[in-house]
Amino acid sequence: MPNISVHYLAAYLLAAILFIIGLKRMSTPMTARWGNALAATGMLVAVIVTLLLKEVLNYTMILIGIAVGGIIGGVAARTVKMTAMPQMVAIYNGFGGGASLLIAAAEFSRYISIGGGIPVESSITIVLTVLIGAVTLSGSLIAFAKLQGLVAAKPITYSLQNILNLIIFMVILGIMVYLVLVPVNVPMFILLVVIALVLGILLVIPIGGADMPVVISLLNCYSGLAACAAGFVLNNMFLVISGALVGAAGFILTRLMCQAMNRSLRNVMFGAFGAIVESETATKLDSKAEVHEVTPSQVASLISQAKSVIFVPGYGLATSQAQHEVSELANLLELRGTNVKYAIHPVAGRMPGHMYVLLAEANISYDKLFGLDDINDDFEKTDIAVVIGANDVTNPAARDVSDSPLFGMPILNVDHAKRVIVIKRSLAPGFAGIDNPLFYLDKTLMFFRDGKQGLLQIIDEIKNL
Ligand code: NDP
Repeated sequence: MPNISVHYLAAYLLAAILFIIGLKRMSTPMTARWGNALAATGMLVAVIVTLLLKEVLNYTMILIGIAVGGIIGGVAARTVKMTAMPQMVAIYNGFGGGASLLIAAAEFSRYISIGGGIPVESSITIVLTVLIGAVTLSGSLIAFAKLQGLVAAKPITYSLQNILNLIIFMVILGIMVYLVLVPVNVPMFILLVVIALVLGILLVIPIGGADMPVVISLLNCYSGLAACAAGFVLNNMFLVISGALVGAAGFILTRLMCQAMNRSLRNVMFGAFGAIVESETATKLDSKAEVHEVTPSQVASLISQAKSVIFVPGYGLATSQAQHEVSELANLLELRGTNVKYAIHPVAGRMPGHMYVLLAEANISYDKLFGLDDINDDFEKTDIAVVIGANDVTNPAARDVSDSPLFGMPILNVDHAKRVIVIKRSLAPGFAGIDNPLFYLDKTLMFFRDGKQGLLQIIDEIKNL
């Protein structure tokens, strides 16, 4: 960062500290809102400091950029549904990668315009930024298209996939070394951008189904690394720090998601995961298998007599926006002396922490929310587990059927409860596209309704008891 006064550096340091404290506070739902506000303040400080720097020559363009970006961000934040958040995160990751790519390209063209070659250290940071930025951009766009349903969400796999990716990576490395040794070569630079974009696509297309949370968090990590690399290109300490923080946070999230999906990080890094092996036994249940359907009054009667109830929310709770109704039902039951808890699976819904955010909206106390490890032993002591719009995260095949594509993914042991009531609209599978044997157990009662409508009917019945 050329000739920056100590004041600017101190302000950047303050911004970085706010980021770190903000991130720390985001680690629990209790302090997450504050953490977000602190990190946003840090970003504001950093933006103001950067705008005050002498190197900023064209404030008009920057103001136009802020206005356009602000409007797009504001509209998106207000209109994008909670259930479409993963797509939004995916595309924002992509924009982060794209911005870093543009910074590297701008710096490359600046060196060309002033003539006289590019210093080796600058060449190294530029080509690294191009690689990470381009992979993040195209990979995130593919992830967005998959989550948005614009392309098939199923993993696309073919023979020698990893070998092809490795060859492409080696070619990229060769071009990068060439560009460092012979820096001013525009066609080679463009070739690097194009091949890195292709690599990003090829790395994400084999991933799909229930593995999407892992790819989203991995791309989040990449976008941080791209920003960090861009920070080196611009010699901007704050960008390096904030990029590194995003990269590290994304990496930690990736590891947590891997644990939740029972995938090894090695599998993730080599893009070999998510290939769903179609297995007739695992994906299709006996077509003659029957379910036990119940009416609202039957559900109300059973629930109101239970001494302990665990609610298990999933994606369907989010789509039906039933968080307030589940809270109302829980309050009614607690008034009758029932012990109520909520079981939260780390990948329930469509984004990390989705269920926590949703239930917080209904002011459900955090001390009633229990993660997988903390609640799983409680199911067998529980009278009724009420599953609302959850499917994959309760699928016992993940635990018991070794050829199930979900096998190995830790699940909520809902089937260990004395009785299970499932509220969903049909027997349709969840995100992974796999039948759920839970629905066919003798102890399971299916209440085929939209989540919110179903809960409202149960609430009405209980009030009339
Ligand atoms: P699932 O996607 O497995 O199942 C959701 C169920 O909700 C469906 O079977 C559907 O059945 C039901 N549903 C949909 N709309 C409604 C409604 N209006 N009312 C009631 N039910 C409804 O959800 P889970 O939460 O169990 O699992 C999450 C899945 O998503 C996992 O496979 C996970 O890997 C994946 N994923 C998670 C991400 C994350 O970060 N959390 C990101 C991307 C993917 P029906 O149509 O019959 O109503």
